[in-house]
Formats: sequence, C-alpha cells, structure tokens
Amino acid sequence: MLPRDHRRAAGEARAELADIFRSHGESYRRTHFLPASQRKVMRAVSVCRTQELGGHLKQCDTCGFEHPSYNSCRNRHCPKCQSLAKAKWLQKQTSELLPVGYFHVVFTLPHVLNGLILAHKKILFAVLFKAVSETLLEFGRSRFKGTVGVIAVLHTWDQTLKALSQVFRGKFLALLQQACGKGKIPAANNEIKASRQKSWVVYAKKPFGSPQTVLDYLGRYTHRVALSNDRILNVQNGLVTFSYRDRKDRDRKKTMTLDAQEFIRRFLLHVLPDGFMRIRHFGFLANRVKKLALPQCRKLLGLNPALPEIPKPSAHELLRELIGIDLSRCPSCKRGTMIIVAELPKISPWNSS
Ligand SMILES: [Zn+2]
Ligand SMILES: [Zn+2]
Repeated sequence: MLPRDHRRAAGEARAELADIFRSHGESYRRTHFLPASQRKVMRAVSVCRTQELGGHLKQCDTCGFEHPSYNSCRNRHCPKCQSLAKAKWLQKQTSELLPVGYFHVVFTLPHVLNGLILAHKKILFAVLFKAVSETLLEFGRSRFKGTVGVIAVLHTWDQTLKALSQVFRGKFLALLQQACGKGKIPAANNEIKASRQKSWVVYAKKPFGSPQTVLDYLGRYTHRVALSNDRILNVQNGLVTFSYRDRKDRDRKKTMTLDAQEFIRRFLLHVLPDGFMRIRHFGFLANRVKKLALPQCRKLLGLNPALPEIPKPSAHELLRELIGIDLSRCPSCKRGTMIIVAELPKISPWNSS
C-alpha cells in the first residue's frame, strides 16, 4: 500500500473516509442516484493525497529517507483538506474585524420544511439567506437609521424563541411562494400553510465577548465537515463504526455502527450544492460595499483606515501553527529536513463512471 500522507508514512494506518469511498463507493453508485455534486465529492475525497493527483518526491537531507508527498483535492467536504482552508479563511477574516460588540442572532426554520429543504437545498438556502439579510438590514434601518454589517453562517437546525421572528417568517414564506410561482420548485402550499401557523424561532444569544470569539465561533462552523477522519474507528465486513456526540444526552461521546452504504448515504446528505456559500456577508460587510465601508468604519472608530495586512505564511507554517506538525521535518530521523527531489506525475486508475 502506498503511504498516503505524512501520518501514514509514520506508521499509522487507520481507515479513513477515502478508504470507505474506495471500497464501497462503486457499489453505492450502482444502487443510488447521485447528483453531480455528490459524485464530485466522492471522487475528490477518494483521490486526495494519492498518486492519482500527482505530487513530489521528498528526501531527507540528513538520512536520505524518501517519501512521496501527493497533492490534495481541496474539496470543502474533504476531511483532509479542511484544516488548512480554515486557517487561511480565519486569517483573512481577522483583518476585517472591528473593535466593536458583535451580536449573535439565530434564525431557525420550522421542521415542517425539512423535506422541502432536503429536496431543494440550493433554492431554499438562498431564500433563507435573503430573508435573514433583509430582516436584519430592515431592522438596522428602522432601529439605528443606518446600515448594519452581517456575517451569516448556515448551520444545522435545532429547536429552541420573538419581533424579528414575524418579519422573518413573512419574508421567508413570501420568497418561498415566489420560488414556487416561478416554477423553480414544485408548489409547496401544504408546507407554507403549516409554517404560517407555527411561531418561528429567532433569538439573540449572549453577545460575543470579543471580535476574536466571533471568529472562533465562525471557524467552527464554516469549515466543518460532516465527519472528521479521527471519528472513524473501524471499517470491517461492510460495516463502519464511528464516534459521535449525542446532543440529546449532554453531548456524551458514543459510538455507532452502520452498514457502509448507509454511512455513505448519511455523509452525502451533508454535501452542499456546487458553488453554495455557507457563509455570506451583508450590509456594510457585503463584498461590493466593504471596500469603501470598512475603511470608513475604521476611521470613525479612530483606527488607521487601512485594513491590517494579512501575513502570508506557507501551507507548512500554517499547519505547524494549527496542528503542531512540522511537515518539513523528516519523520524517520526526526532531525533532517525533507526536500523536494522529483516531480511525481498523476497516475489515474480510478474508474470515473
Ligand atoms: Zn482532500
Ligand atoms: Zn531523516
């Protein structure tokens, strides 16, 4: 077996999501309908950091130990690629933080809409983001006579409740009705009727302690993958055993065993539509506006109008900071430095059916 990454080169071999896709993916694709977005994720995760993506051969300058280092897939659903993407994202966001209080407002949708959302994620999520941003921007205009800045993150729904809620419900359902009217999704009259009768949950949580805690919080959600590799405990005889936290039981850590096919199905349920952004900015933080608005805000706050520069560390440095693993250190003698000695071409045995 080819060493797939640094950890494996160091002798650690535990089943990963990629292994599950490689051994059970084909039979899954034969028996399930897969939208292009899910197919793409499956392929990307399967080939991430394997010879199929090519890479470099590295050699230790001290003991001569050789180790191939393959390219990563960079897919946002890949458990191997997320820590680096997250570190880069957080760095960029840090420069845009203002030394002010940040409020934390949660908008939720009623459960009667779950089926509709799963079937039409792209449209329903777009409607959700629009309803949320319009509600908050309108609130800012009427309450503060100004433009608020909004960082909105989509995450999974749970239940828990007020004035914003009615505005939000009105906007969401009107936008949903519009989407049905334009034929983007089938008529959802039953769901709309049932939703109108429920009170929708919008609540403000305790404000964030500091701008940095805003980022810590966001970072946890923006680059979360449905399942990290270290949660996969065992893959054997077509069964996958993994750990999870039971929210209904005080977040206790538990294990679950599923048929590999069912495991794949559940993982793919979390795949977001192609090009879908889980995090969006509105108000003075909207992409078109912030170039002028942020320096202006900074000036009004008595700061240098120019945004702080983002340091540009290499991928290696970022990872070292993040997970404490120095990828340039030789895993064999632990003293030498790994240096690129050759290019490795892409080799593709993957059946792209
Ligand atoms: Zn990857
Ligand atoms: Zn060495």
